[in-house]
Amino acid sequence: MKFTDLGLNESLLKAIKEQGYTEPTPIQIKAIPLVIEGRDVLAAAQTGTGKTAGFTLPILERLTQTSPQMKKKQIRVLVLTPTRELAAQVADSIKTYGKYMKYRSTVIFGGVGINPQLATIKRGVEIVIATPGRLLDIAGQQGIDFSAIECLVLDEADRMLDMGFIHDIKKLMAMMPKNRQTLLFSATFSREIKSLASGLLKDPVLIEVARENATAGQISQVVHLVDKGRKRELLSQLIKTGNWKQVLVFTRTKHGANKLCKQLIEYSGISAAAIHGNKSQGARTKALADFKAGNVRVLVATDIAARGIDIDQLPHVVNFELPNVPEDYVHRIGRTGRAGMSGEAVSLVCVDEHELLRAIEKFSKSSIKKVDIEAFRPDPSIKAVPIQNGKSGRQKQGQGQKKKSSNSRNRNRNSNTTNQKPSVDPGNRYNNRRK
Ligand code: AMP
Repeated sequence: MKFTDLGLNESLLKAIKEQGYTEPTPIQIKAIPLVIEGRDVLAAAQTGTGKTAGFTLPILERLTQTSPQMKKKQIRVLVLTPTRELAAQVADSIKTYGKYMKYRSTVIFGGVGINPQLATIKRGVEIVIATPGRLLDIAGQQGIDFSAIECLVLDEADRMLDMGFIHDIKKLMAMMPKNRQTLLFSATFSREIKSLASGLLKDPVLIEVARENATAGQISQVVHLVDKGRKRELLSQLIKTGNWKQVLVFTRTKHGANKLCKQLIEYSGISAAAIHGNKSQGARTKALADFKAGNVRVLVATDIAARGIDIDQLPHVVNFELPNVPEDYVHRIGRTGRAGMSGEAVSLVCVDEHELLRAIEKFSKSSIKKVDIEAFRPDPSIKAVPIQNGKSGRQKQGQGQKKKSSNSRNRNRNSNTTNQKPSVDPGNRYNNRRK
């Protein structure tokens, strides 16, 4: 199947060619013709599958098919995303693919001034890519008119629900015109997503493409067992000896991200930047831009900040700490090995995390290769203690157990070294999801 078979116009085909894409991905093959036809689509697709082009290309194509008279503040396409980074990326895709077309687009998100956003809409745009909260503020000030919307996209809808945007989304949906096309993209089809979809989509076509864990063939995965206190040293060695130019490193907490970033700079002399929810929008944008431009070698991120980040040809992803939820491991390693490129995902696993590792292997139905690094062999006298609030403790045999959590619901059975396994972080917002 070629791009030329999908019903896209010459301007789009030219822009696609300039991107160097030779053939459409499975989601693009399925979604593009349906969207051009005007169908509502419910698609299960994660980042890394080419889903963004899967909806932006046919939307741009559809825009050319009519030329309605637009009133002030009216828009034709609205894309809702969970995070500012994802909004910016979708906007970039629209700019890239729509390069030879005349449509104007803008991105709307919180954390930056609202007045320039209001002014841009007033001047006139066809396409808005927005996070729900700020868009609702703008709608509340009559800063935007949804009545001419032809196509509405909810991107990463599951994440929007996880992030608690459901009320904002419902308020926004009540403002949308009924005779629109709706596309909903989600990594999972949970009960909540199905219920959201049933209220929004008309006779949708269901599209499902292989999950990232089924296509992770191009991603080589390795685990290095190491003591918690030596992880930073091992990471520095891997970066230096492997001459890694660009590596995305995941920590479990914002504090952990800051600390690691500082230590890499101060103790290892490796340039690094951190992104997480406590950083200002400006700082996050700068960190990502510096990383993409190769000005910093290491980007340390939490799961939420990294969600949906699209970095072309990212060769290395490191789990400095394993995530509490196995699905997040799949999201994390999916940052590398994208769109057919090969990549390496390295996990530094301390004794506290053995149970998390087993859960990940069970979830992905595969065993991850364990590679011993002689100089970093774990000290066998260090025993596991439960992981709580995103932190794990560590202790030597005979030093006495840490006070146990009184919350027995969060404590799990069995570990190969103690009779406790790391418990699920009770304060973690992922804790109750997708059970
Ligand atoms: P997405 O799943 O939308 O986040 O896209 C993942 C990556 O795949 C992005 O870097 C896109 O630029 C790239 N991409 C999208 N479509 C194609 C294609 N047909 N061929 C090669 N790369 C693609």
